[in-house]
Amino acid sequence: MTRLFYLIFSISLFLLSSFSLAATLPPHMPVPGGIAVIPLQEPAPRITAVQFNNKPVLTIKNQQQWYALVGLPLAIKTGEKKLELTTIKGDKLSIPFYIEDKKYEEQYITIKDKRKVNPNALDIKRILQEKKRITDAFQHWSNHHDNNLNFILPVDGRQSSSFGLRRFFNGQARKPHSGLDIAAPQGTEILAPAAGHVILTGDFFFNGQSVFIDHGQGLITMYCHLSVITVKEGDKIKQSDKIGEVGQTGRVTGPHLHWSVSLNNARINPALFLTEKK
Ligand code: ZN
Repeated sequence: MTRLFYLIFSISLFLLSSFSLAATLPPHMPVPGGIAVIPLQEPAPRITAVQFNNKPVLTIKNQQQWYALVGLPLAIKTGEKKLELTTIKGDKLSIPFYIEDKKYEEQYITIKDKRKVNPNALDIKRILQEKKRITDAFQHWSNHHDNNLNFILPVDGRQSSSFGLRRFFNGQARKPHSGLDIAAPQGTEILAPAAGHVILTGDFFFNGQSVFIDHGQGLITMYCHLSVITVKEGDKIKQSDKIGEVGQTGRVTGPHLHWSVSLNNARINPALFLTEKK
């Protein structure tokens, strides 16, 4: 009897440890550009909606507990926020959480192609059209999620610009850096950090040749400045599949990958999803 108990006990331990490996959570980092990891009082199957600012957010199970993962945009105000839940019985619940302050460093960049800093009227028309396509991609929602939040680094190289830097191009203030830059020689292969679907590819004014991958439940990643794109819209990809090669298309100072990670349409620090920090 005791032996049987130990056998069941060790099998459960094994199952528990393999499950927790499969669904590692990112750290709770409630700052602009971070993620709020919020435990839910009810399991997700008993909830019909989990929303932040009236938009659905990702839910995930980890060691028998359900969590909401809320992406926090760089422009979010500090202070109290609320996660809104609707149960299958129709009850409304709200969970308060707090956004703390974070100061990101400044970065000054010189761009030789002045049109990439002060675009002309025709460029602006193009930029606005592209902005709509890019925003639509980041707002894409699909219910599927395979629970793998252990991303691999898409390019083997030096991290040349970190996420969140407050940027000045040729001395003029521009939007903060909404991704992570990895410098690597032109032609270095870019690998998908996790499985997903290619939802958009294109050649954009600032971002150059780009690929967008949908990982499910509002988790979208973007790859910019590619020399070559080796996937097409609609492709289903696995973790580590090649999606393209490093280049210097768009607004750049040299060959590198700009990698953005977006959760509920908030660009967040990609390093939060990396298990092996570089
Ligand atoms: Zn960048």
